[in-house]
Amino acid sequence: MRVRFLGGVAMVVAGAMVAGCGGSDGGAGAGKAKIDDAAMVKQAHAVRAANAAKVHANELGQIPVIMFHRVIAKPAGPDDRTPTQFRADLERLAKDGYVPITAANYVQGEINIPAGKHPVVLTFDDSSPSQLTLSEVGVPAPDTAVAILQETAKKYPGFRPVATFYVTGDMFGKTTPEEKAQMLIWLKENGFDVGNHTLTHMNMRGRSQKDVTHEIAADQQLVTSLTGQRPITLALPYGNQPKVKDWALTGTEGATTYKHAGVFLAGYTPALAPFDKNFDPEGIPRIRAMDKKGDCVQFCSVAWLDWLAKNADQRYTSDGDPRTVAYPKFKNPFLAKRAAAWAVPY
Ligand SMILES: [Zn+2]
Repeated sequence: MRVRFLGGVAMVVAGAMVAGCGGSDGGAGAGKAKIDDAAMVKQAHAVRAANAAKVHANELGQIPVIMFHRVIAKPAGPDDRTPTQFRADLERLAKDGYVPITAANYVQGEINIPAGKHPVVLTFDDSSPSQLTLSEVGVPAPDTAVAILQETAKKYPGFRPVATFYVTGDMFGKTTPEEKAQMLIWLKENGFDVGNHTLTHMNMRGRSQKDVTHEIAADQQLVTSLTGQRPITLALPYGNQPKVKDWALTGTEGATTYKHAGVFLAGYTPALAPFDKNFDPEGIPRIRAMDKKGDCVQFCSVAWLDWLAKNADQRYTSDGDPRTVAYPKFKNPFLAKRAAAWAVPY
């Protein structure tokens, strides 16, 4: 994760520096050119800070990572949403200025959304057919999670139809490798992200390292064999961490090695910005999608979205420039060292 972290940004910055030095390769003008370069960098920084201040950018603010399960007409439990509820969940996010990014984008600090907007990570666990069912020509069935997400994106331009699907071996109700491949490749080609949710949805609490590693490695092996790409993140079944947290992040079984950039829990708060020094890739909180009732009065999605709207100074707001980490300078002590090179405090 450290290696990949903001790797793209580093290259952009390095490229700009090289271009800025063009034509000043030694000679009498070199000293002056250096001063001009420094002045230009300073001026560019001032412009970025001013733009960030204009939109109250806060790229050290909190990000809601919302956990969905099934989207079905007759919910069987508190984890399910009806299509009507799910549509309302998405419309509220769009109206509140959220733009979906994937879990992989989030943990890798690739948050490329317009100025003044807020990232949200939509996650779907357990790979159920109510999330994705496709016709014989690859069209999502009406009222599936993916179909509703795409409809919402059409209705609210700028609201991107992207999400992360945490899949088990029981993949969207498909049984053959060909059918499973169709589902995962469709997701990949349509901008969705596929994460690891273990092969058989094993509860890791109290299990041996060997069992934990096997469940994760086998799911990665399956996803990789079908799509050619390894999952970048994992969601813990039931949100339960293994005895040693790191067993979920990294492990090796035979020829398969996994190294996740983030491991997600199943509760109960918004998550820290990936640029916050306290961001912990081994246990990233998620919020259950549910209205303000019962045990969800405070700690599920509707309650937290209300809270984030009321406490806008604590919410992640983008400056629109993916190359920077912009924030009110009062928050300086919370900046992660690894993000220091891109910091734009204002
Ligand atoms: Zn699950």
